[in-house]
Amino acid sequence: MKHLLFGLKYVLSYRLLNERRPLICGLVVHNRCNLKCLHCRITERPEESLSFEMLRKMLDSFYNKGGRTIYFEGGEPFLWQDREYKLEDAVKYAKKKGFLATVVYTNGTFPLETSADTVFISLDGLKKTNDLLRGNVFERIMQNINESDHPSLYINFTINNINKNEIPDFCDFINDIKNIKGIFFYFHTPYYGYDELFINKNEKKEILTTLLENKGKYKILNSGAGLKSAIRNDWKRPLNICEIYEGSKTYKCCRFPGNKDLCNDCGYLSYAEIEQVLKMKPSAIRNAIKYFGSWKFNYHSG
Ligand code: SF4
Repeated sequence: MKHLLFGLKYVLSYRLLNERRPLICGLVVHNRCNLKCLHCRITERPEESLSFEMLRKMLDSFYNKGGRTIYFEGGEPFLWQDREYKLEDAVKYAKKKGFLATVVYTNGTFPLETSADTVFISLDGLKKTNDLLRGNVFERIMQNINESDHPSLYINFTINNINKNEIPDFCDFINDIKNIKGIFFYFHTPYYGYDELFINKNEKKEILTTLLENKGKYKILNSGAGLKSAIRNDWKRPLNICEIYEGSKTYKCCRFPGNKDLCNDCGYLSYAEIEQVLKMKPSAIRNAIKYFGSWKFNYHSG
């Protein structure tokens, strides 16, 4: 209930009082990763590994600004360690501090053991396609999913030119995996330039329309309102109520700010989703409630 009250209060103060408090924080615990995915160059950034003290300081700072939703991300967060401290210590600290939603973004190659409320696992296709994009890890990820007893596991699927035709088969496959509660779809964002993975606007529209039409058939987490906003490509950006902490820097919206063309071609659809909730679109609110409701009782990226 605390989550719903917080959400309601946030939306009302955003709309009626024009308040712009931070809503979501992506906390980069480090930029190390055990994979080398085709679309990602995060490991080329400085390692920026946080000490546990620094991590606590950042959580405190975000909490003091009013934020209550924290995403642990990297690199690969399950790889993070500072002396005897591991990711679980950071999650426990955040929960004790009073964060209402603790979320982990992972590549799924480590056992999915965490007290975080929700875990998002990146999987970009069936075995052949995923392994082409992310390395030979599909079987390991599926084993970790099947062996996990975490109640709130979701898939992050980033649509690109290589996996775009596999979406229905992938959704069919996930329908049969009882441990997975839903799939959130993003598009490849050209952070590093317009490469062969980038999908043009018209094709994106077609894909989004198909997702919208098939929402009831598959475990698609994007809401109807979020998908429609993505079809119109009209959500507000950059979304300054979302902050990313990396090393000693704080970014608004994402770690690649200030590039209008990039923002216009942004595929980070969870921000489209957040904006629909702030606009009080019923399907986005229903989705958020369903999503938060599936935690025990609990809340989200970017
Ligand atoms: S590219 Fe997307 S996530 Fe990054 S600042 Fe622009 S709108 Fe935000």
